[in-house]
Amino acid sequence: MTAAVLDGTAPARAIRERVTTAAAGLVGRGIVPKLAVVVATDDPGAGWYVRSLAAAAGRVGITCEVISLGADAFTDDIHRTLLRLSSDDTVHGIVLQAPLPDGVRVEDLAAAIACEKDVDGANPLSAGRLAAGLPAYPPATAAAVLCLLDHHQIELTGRNAVVVGRSLVVGKPTAQLLLQRDATVAICHRHTKDLAAHTRSADVLVVAVGRIGLIRAEHVGDGAVVVDVGTNTAPDGSLAGDVDATDGRAAAISPVPGGVGPVTTALLLEHTVQSAGAAWCS
Ligand code: NAP
Repeated sequence: MTAAVLDGTAPARAIRERVTTAAAGLVGRGIVPKLAVVVATDDPGAGWYVRSLAAAAGRVGITCEVISLGADAFTDDIHRTLLRLSSDDTVHGIVLQAPLPDGVRVEDLAAAIACEKDVDGANPLSAGRLAAGLPAYPPATAAAVLCLLDHHQIELTGRNAVVVGRSLVVGKPTAQLLLQRDATVAICHRHTKDLAAHTRSADVLVVAVGRIGLIRAEHVGDGAVVVDVGTNTAPDGSLAGDVDATDGRAAAISPVPGGVGPVTTALLLEHTVQSAGAAWCS
């Protein structure tokens, strides 16, 4: 069986078109949607991502302000900046870019992002609201996984979903969203015994670990749908996912690059126009 490709570029394009129309409508009402990205790192990968996010924002009519605090910024500096942006009426979305300087913990900062501007679901209140089924922006990557599955008409109700990875930004919120869609969900992590036995039971397998080649053919059940969230730098400098090969077992798999990534960026922009339109969490 040749696996179908869960392409992310087409849904990302459709979202960007919606966002462009919504942003133009807002500008017509005198509201210029604005995303603020707080950066406290000199990591080249993060720098590249922020530049491409800012360019993507510009193309759909969203102003993107990048606030560079330097890789030696202290928790207090970043905290003050997030509070200032949270109370700035011209700012509609706030992203705190990873990684943070050594010793600075996202847990000490994320609550300073106003929930209604928390377009990447970083504030623990957003996570709590998501878990309680209340309006909140989910982390864009988690939302992108569901968006990709929906775009490709993958049925979720009653299906076994396994998420590998339990980070606050990807694994846990993805599991929450799958649960909300009536999948039966298991979460695997570093301490999971016999990972392959769990992952093989998945109808829908989402992998968000950050290790090239962690998932191989023996981890995949026949006919499974596999979403590869991993974005790793391969030894040759190319971008690689966490899934190595599925040897004809998977029915469908998302590519890296071109799968979850473009949808994530598009959804961050969509959350920003939703926030600007005061339609907090659609
Ligand atoms: P993270 O915070 O480092 O979390 C990694 C998770 O993987 C942890 O829960 C860890 O378990 C688990 N893990 C590590 N080794 C494992 C193993 N051998 N078996 C099973 N589980 C294992 O990473 P993250 O921020 O969630 O990101 C995960 C990947 O997604 C990275 O490649 C990242 O670059 C990518 N990503 C992509 C996008 C996108 O838009 N495409 C966005 C965000 C992140 P423990 O909790 O037990 O340590």
